Amino acid sequence: MRRPVRRGKKRLDIVFIDRDGVINKDPGGWTEYSYVTKWKDFKFLPGVFQALRLLNRNGIKVVIISNQAGVNKGYFTRDELNEVTSRMLDEINKNGGKIEEVYYCIHKREDNCNCRKPKPGMLEAAARKFSADPRKTYFIGDSEVDVQAGYSLGMRTIFVRSGKTTVDEMSKWVLKPDYVFADLLETVKWLLAKERRKTDRAHKRREGVIKGAVDAPAEDLPEETGEEV
Ligand SMILES: [Mg+2]
Ligand SMILES: [Zn+2]
Repeated sequence: MRRPVRRGKKRLDIVFIDRDGVINKDPGGWTEYSYVTKWKDFKFLPGVFQALRLLNRNGIKVVIISNQAGVNKGYFTRDELNEVTSRMLDEINKNGGKIEEVYYCIHKREDNCNCRKPKPGMLEAAARKFSADPRKTYFIGDSEVDVQAGYSLGMRTIFVRSGKTTVDEMSKWVLKPDYVFADLLETVKWLLAKERRKTDRAHKRREGVIKGAVDAPAEDLPEETGEEV
């Protein structure tokens, strides 16, 4: 029988994700004001429900961290944003997933708040609330500000190609993400495979199968996707 691994690297138990371009189709260019101002413009991206289910089933919490300056720009109200959020959470729940909490910054750049990404204010607050060690978790997003916010808090950053930024644009960023995947589902499959390898190695070490084994740097590990957990 397997016991939970307590020594060595801590098991991944929480991830932080952006909303637009990761959970739902980025609203840039095809919606009024290029924001999701109403539910009809909230389009779940393919594989998102499965990705969230996989995370939850494997004991990994999910927290959303999103800039929604359209509120303070006057394009939609806080109530309208809350309405979109509760419908999003309902749909996710109905599909077997769960989001622990949703953080929004509703400020404009000129408001000079501490929460608007690339500032790490929301991530900081969320990491504190959920007692997450930033260095042991990931921030998944589709924009440069996501990578910057995650990086400034010491998180590993993952860029997904399902949002508003092309890989060409991303390659010109000064600060690059640690990993790049097609979308949330591909990211999650990789994360879970990585966690599994970590656990397996820890078990083997304890059983004396591998003497003096060390964890290889993540970059050296082969990508392993396409497997349902
Ligand atoms: Mg985004
Ligand atoms: Zn803010």
